[in-house]
Amino acid sequence: MLGLMMSQPLRIAGLIEHAAKWHGDTEIVTRLTEGGIHRYTYADAHRRSQQLAGALTALGVSMGDRVGTLAWNNHRHFELYYGISGMGAVCHTINPRLFPEQLVYIINHAQDRYIFFDLTFLPLVEKLAPACPHVLGWVLMSDQAHLPADTSLPLLLCYEDLLNEQPAGFNWPVFDENTASSLCYTSGTTDQPKGVLYSHRSTLLHSYAAGLPDCFNCSVRDVILPVVPMFHVNAWGIPYLAPLIGCKLVLPGPGLDAASLFELFEAEGVTFSAGVPTIWFGLLTFMREKQARFSTLGKMIVGGSSCPPALLKAFDVELGVTIRHAWGMTETSPLGTVNTLKSRQLSLSPDEQFAIQTKQGRAIFGVDMKIVDDSGAELPHNGVAFGDLLVRGPFIVADYFRSSSPGELTQDGWFRTGDVATIDADGFLNITDRSKDVIKSGGEWISSIDLENLAVAHPAVAEAAVIGVPHPKWGERPLLIVVCKPGQDVSPEELLAFFDGKVASWWKPDAVEFVNQLPHTATGKLLKTRLRQDFAGYTLAV
Ligand code: ADP
Repeated sequence: MLGLMMSQPLRIAGLIEHAAKWHGDTEIVTRLTEGGIHRYTYADAHRRSQQLAGALTALGVSMGDRVGTLAWNNHRHFELYYGISGMGAVCHTINPRLFPEQLVYIINHAQDRYIFFDLTFLPLVEKLAPACPHVLGWVLMSDQAHLPADTSLPLLLCYEDLLNEQPAGFNWPVFDENTASSLCYTSGTTDQPKGVLYSHRSTLLHSYAAGLPDCFNCSVRDVILPVVPMFHVNAWGIPYLAPLIGCKLVLPGPGLDAASLFELFEAEGVTFSAGVPTIWFGLLTFMREKQARFSTLGKMIVGGSSCPPALLKAFDVELGVTIRHAWGMTETSPLGTVNTLKSRQLSLSPDEQFAIQTKQGRAIFGVDMKIVDDSGAELPHNGVAFGDLLVRGPFIVADYFRSSSPGELTQDGWFRTGDVATIDADGFLNITDRSKDVIKSGGEWISSIDLENLAVAHPAVAEAAVIGVPHPKWGERPLLIVVCKPGQDVSPEELLAFFDGKVASWWKPDAVEFVNQLPHTATGKLLKTRLRQDFAGYTLAV
């Protein structure tokens, strides 16, 4: 027997319609790529998204077509999120920080029909265009005044002109909620980039989940500034969450340095933000140097890579900002787990609480997870056993877009994340490694992430990476690679002594190497494949 409730498909256009109707005068503020601040409202954003959908229709874009974006967090990118998906096409956000060869691969693989780009990326798209034969036109996300006098692009269109030619009032089509809405490629840390194709349904369910009190805990009274880029994993869902709850949204454009962010936090009364640890470390240094304090910022999400305890503690104790640690990936939309303490943990000492908060947190509803050993047997939730992390749920990838081996990804109904983790008795996930990075010493596993987190707690260390290097007796042993803070110095012996008593003695790295900088992926993660190449043939003193 079926239920007797209205059957309305979940659609992304419904979010902006809701915001325009019930929060029509709430502001979206953007720091423009062209310079200056732009302000308008959800009602304006809705009207312009409709004009954009009309313009795309006039250009011949139809349901299922991919339309690419190469853009910062700004109001036009926000309109593209709604205009493209709302009309039934696929909003393909492209990460401009990838290598040009990867960008060409992605654009051709996705078969993007049009690419919308910010002024910053004009030289980049001029370079890419000759290798992207499927692209019918390139749209500069600006006005006539900013169109280049001369360009090698085959067909250059102007965003504001496209919109101006359209009347208001595009009727959003109604279609199956499983229709594809947006596309994001993984950063190709370990392989060629792979496309994750989200649906309207998965996006809406993920947006509801993101707003929950134990997740982002945001309401209509918040002012959200996503530092996480809209060009990678939909800025962790914030461009959808903000209209869902109707709160003010602040989009920082290209200026992601600490001074620009702080200025915007203060000027716009930002209460909540989200970003990767590197961004927050930069902000912390700035706040300390300037002896500055936030007037309104009270909570932040950190994710994308492991959050060192030192960062959590500094923001909480020195700056009065609560950081929630979260884990996720492109394939999980991206939110998988978020860390909030349970009631009984509130009576623990501050240090015990920080130790729990350093973990990646508990599964949000919509994400089921388990850890398994090499034979696929499920491991206990005791916070000690670590194994491969598998997840499943309605906003987890089922297959990659135009995959060469369709149907193979989740044959047993679970997606293998490629992460290695423990889960404790309270359900808190702790990512100990990527499976390719885990160090296997004498048949036992050593967590490179735990060692890196400890190393950066040393006052002289700016950044650290730990990789396994061959060892005649143990198979592999950890090598610590360190970047020191400017003007700071520490000897290898002193640094290794710092680990004493903090980890099992056999986890202690065997050696330390100092470098000027560490290699990173386009999404700011340590590029350990490169480090392993750089240190191939490294011999440890036995
Ligand atoms: P990629 O495209 O490289 O897969 P994603 O942005 O999808 O990039 O990153 C997902 C990966 O990032 C996860 O599988 C995990 O290894 C890592 N990651 C994400 N959040 C965390 C976190 N809080 N702690 C540790 N690792 C994390």
